[in-house]
Amino acid sequence: MQDSLAFVSMSTEKSPSRKSRAIVWFRKDLRVKDNPALVAAYNAKKEIVPVFIWNEKEGGQWSPGAASRWWLHQSLIDLGKSIDSNNGKLILRKGIAEYILPLIAKVVGADTVFFNRSYDPAGRQTEISVKDALSRNGIQCESFNGSLLNEPWEIKNGSGKPYQIFTPYWKLSRSGIHKKPTCYEPSKFTFSKDNSPTESLHELGLLTEHPWHEKLHSHWIVSEDEGHKMISRTTQEVTRHYSHRRNIPSINGTSRLSPYLAWGNISPRQICQAVLHSHSNDDPTSTDGNQFLAEIGWREFSYHLLYHFPHLPENPLRPKYAEFPWRKDAQALSNWQLGKTGYPLVDAGMRQLYETGWMHNRVRMVVASFLVKHLLMSWTEGTKWFWDTLVDADLASNTQGWQWAAGCGADAAPYFRIFNPILQGEKFDTSGKYARRWIEPLKELPSKWLFKPWEAPTIVLSQSNVTLGQNYPQPCVDHPQARARALEALATLPKN
Ligand SMILES: Cc1cc2nc3c(=O)[nH]c(=O)nc-3n(C[C@H](O)[C@H](O)[C@H](O)COP(=O)(O)OP(=O)(O)OC[C@H]3O[C@@H](n4cnc5c(N)ncnc54)[C@H](O)[C@@H]3O)c2cc1C
Repeated sequence: MQDSLAFVSMSTEKSPSRKSRAIVWFRKDLRVKDNPALVAAYNAKKEIVPVFIWNEKEGGQWSPGAASRWWLHQSLIDLGKSIDSNNGKLILRKGIAEYILPLIAKVVGADTVFFNRSYDPAGRQTEISVKDALSRNGIQCESFNGSLLNEPWEIKNGSGKPYQIFTPYWKLSRSGIHKKPTCYEPSKFTFSKDNSPTESLHELGLLTEHPWHEKLHSHWIVSEDEGHKMISRTTQEVTRHYSHRRNIPSINGTSRLSPYLAWGNISPRQICQAVLHSHSNDDPTSTDGNQFLAEIGWREFSYHLLYHFPHLPENPLRPKYAEFPWRKDAQALSNWQLGKTGYPLVDAGMRQLYETGWMHNRVRMVVASFLVKHLLMSWTEGTKWFWDTLVDADLASNTQGWQWAAGCGADAAPYFRIFNPILQGEKFDTSGKYARRWIEPLKELPSKWLFKPWEAPTIVLSQSNVTLGQNYPQPCVDHPQARARALEALATLPKN
């Protein structure tokens, strides 16, 4: 540290006209384009000291899971390269931001810290502590919105309260899609090279010991540039046929932008602008583009909910569900997690997730409904598994998605809506391509039986090389019975 201080003062002597310095504290905004904190430092004519701090304990049980940590690791490599190519060096540190930022500021002589806000409970708490620590050290601090179209507190209903229904929420907040990304040339930034000691990426220890994450490399390219290629693909191939194709899990009918949004390799403003420019989606009759933009709206809505109801990751929005006696069954949970329920659409989805760190939204709804309704197990078991295995794990959207499926959240599916995993398969995976892709032993089974192999005649099973209970499981529950059990149990909940 002494050496660094000496180095700072030496370089000050040599170049008296040196710009004053500011730290840009990177968080879930791991990009150089459309980054409000970076551009604020640039506009303030600061030499930029870029810093990322990994605090494994931040978030408690919602500290990033294995898949997320892998994505973060790759994103830091990419961000580091972008900063290197602009003659800077990304400082990596492990620990608590409120202690580390004032120390780095002293070492490098920074008078301001710029950062983009995060809106999850732990991130908000960290910001409070950081602001306090910086102010005690006489260091200025400015924060920005780098990850949402609207601030979660900006949208209120007629009574000044947060919305709990999506449609009126989006009607009021939709104009946020017109907000333009900040436009600048990242090569103009002056990054500081006279940095505080950094840890190596390896020392952050992001990659979990279990080598599960290694296979993710064959499914994802993690970089800001790739995020932009994916945006282009979205406007060329996805949004024009979105209404129909978004529900077919065997094709790339959705954008797959979610993991790039989760760590901020790209911003929602960049996506919306690209979609608006590519075709006139502001026309309410253009259903495809609008439907896609409304999904970005669901992400916003999820943050709106999480901001106003920070207890949601652990507790249902509808309190009557808190006391519901969910079943506990470790074997059934494990079968669900590993895609061994005997219901091909559910198993295909869970296997896709375990193999690629991502699952198609239609199938997410089906597997979630299956866990909470067919197996009567708590939605919180589902959030935890998704949290660990999804590359796009996002506290707001994951919580909202699970509470929606369980019927205990905002705008949720009513308790009597129970997805039929057989019909969902036949309707949305008509060709059977998705199920066959993820469940090798069912490859030869004719479509007629694909989503209910237990009903197939023995001869068909043997001709298709399927031996139930051996190379593919028997169904873990009987669908009509499980449905009836769920309806009966959930009907005991108080009406309001
Ligand atoms: C049980 C459950 C859990 C989920 N967990 C997550 C999660 O942890 N992280 C996550 O990003 N999404 C989650 N979702 C929402 C949704 O499944 C994914 O955002 C979507 O599948 C991502 O694929 P895509 O980028 O191709 O989506 P697209 O269909 O291309 O949509 C574009 C973008 O809109 C947003 N979006 C789309 N659908 C939703 C939605 N229902 N809720 C919130 N935002 C949405 C995403 O940011 C997505 O990238 C969950 C949904 C369910 C039912």
